Amino acid sequence: MMNVETINPLLIRKYNQSVPRYTSYPTVPFWQDEVDVASWKQSFQKHFNEQNYENGISLYIHLPFCESLCTYCGCNKKITTNHKVEDEYLLAIEEEWKLYRKLMQQTPVIRALHLGGGTPTFFSPFNLRRLLDIILKKSIVHPDHEFSIEGHPNNTTVEHLKVLYSLGFRRISYGVQDNDPEVQRLINRIQPFENVKKATETARSIGFNSVNFDLIYGLPGQTTASIERTMNQVITIKPDRIAFYSYAHVPWTSRGQRLFDETNLPSAEEKIQLYLTGRELLMTNGYVEIGMDHFALPHDELCKAKENGELYRNFMGYTTRHTRLLLGLGVSSISATPDAFAQNEKTLHEYYASIREGKLAVTRGYLLTEEDIEFHKYILDISCQGQTNFDEKNLRVLREYTFPRLQALEKDGLIEWNEKGLKLKPQGYFFIRNICHAFDLKLLQQAGTTEKVFSKGI
Ligand code: SF4
Repeated sequence: MMNVETINPLLIRKYNQSVPRYTSYPTVPFWQDEVDVASWKQSFQKHFNEQNYENGISLYIHLPFCESLCTYCGCNKKITTNHKVEDEYLLAIEEEWKLYRKLMQQTPVIRALHLGGGTPTFFSPFNLRRLLDIILKKSIVHPDHEFSIEGHPNNTTVEHLKVLYSLGFRRISYGVQDNDPEVQRLINRIQPFENVKKATETARSIGFNSVNFDLIYGLPGQTTASIERTMNQVITIKPDRIAFYSYAHVPWTSRGQRLFDETNLPSAEEKIQLYLTGRELLMTNGYVEIGMDHFALPHDELCKAKENGELYRNFMGYTTRHTRLLLGLGVSSISATPDAFAQNEKTLHEYYASIREGKLAVTRGYLLTEEDIEFHKYILDISCQGQTNFDEKNLRVLREYTFPRLQALEKDGLIEWNEKGLKLKPQGYFFIRNICHAFDLKLLQQAGTTEKVFSKGI
């Protein structure tokens, strides 16, 4: 891995384009609104039956409620202080799980389980236990499982952590974002660093062995000095993993962002400096760059998986437990098999209505062609292993769409390649999204702009 200083700032400017994060391929904007639910069910059943006993399955459960709105937020969430909503939501998840259980001809083996949101710790410890009882009752927990949760430092209690630990959770991810009081005021997320510290220490004392922090650069009011202060504070508690995301300013889809005074947002140049400042502090303090915004300490499983070529990337970002079937439960959740994607209804009203009618809440999705599967593999190989081999049968398409872009990337010193395959050079790790873009046939074949669909690389 390279030093920060060796990144050419001209290249950063050149490649700071609107490109996807490639948590799926084809990416979500290319999915179809009219999804064929019968085909989705078929794909789910086929891959469940083939994979369940061999490798287990992954579950993602979306818990959408939050007590107050962080104005930068682009997640699917429902703001409420009424905790009575927990019951209705749990009943819907239970019914949805039953619908999927009817498609399963074997007892499910749960290898990975992630509670995301929203704010999962909005739910009481009692209700989180109820939720896990619903899922784990009559399921088998894989001996090498990984259960994880997104916790809010302001409301994750000792009781939450004890209940989760007793259910097998060992990883927690806290949304830290930025410690600066003025930035916190501007994004409406008041969260003293003391809360973050206490939540982390409590999780560790209970037995959680991997703590992740999500941080964001590009927020209103951020400066290189404020990022330095945030990073230096964060580094004192040594979270095992850090995701350092670029703030995606998409006010046309995230209404809360319209509340920002845009003059407070850092310019593109300032944003690059924010990122480089944060990255340098992380890397000079022992963090290893995993790729696409992720850093980890060398002892963490993510680093080991990267070294051993066992990293995988899905809708939850990088993971060390790869299963070929990911089932998403809850409003807006995404499910994936090797040849299909499906997304649930995005509003609670429509999600509840489908479940009440006894139907899967799937509303959008995509059935992958052979070519999609091949190109998804190239993108995964590059994001996770930093290299890929080309299959002869794709050479015609690669020559037409990909190779001209690889020539430019090679000229800029980011990759080395020939007609057999490609390998990232050290500088290429900084531009993984751009390199994956060379394999995104959907985008390359489409005329028009990506500006209002994807966020900028930095
Ligand atoms: S950032 Fe998290 S806590 Fe804030 S509104 Fe969005 S989902 Fe809720």
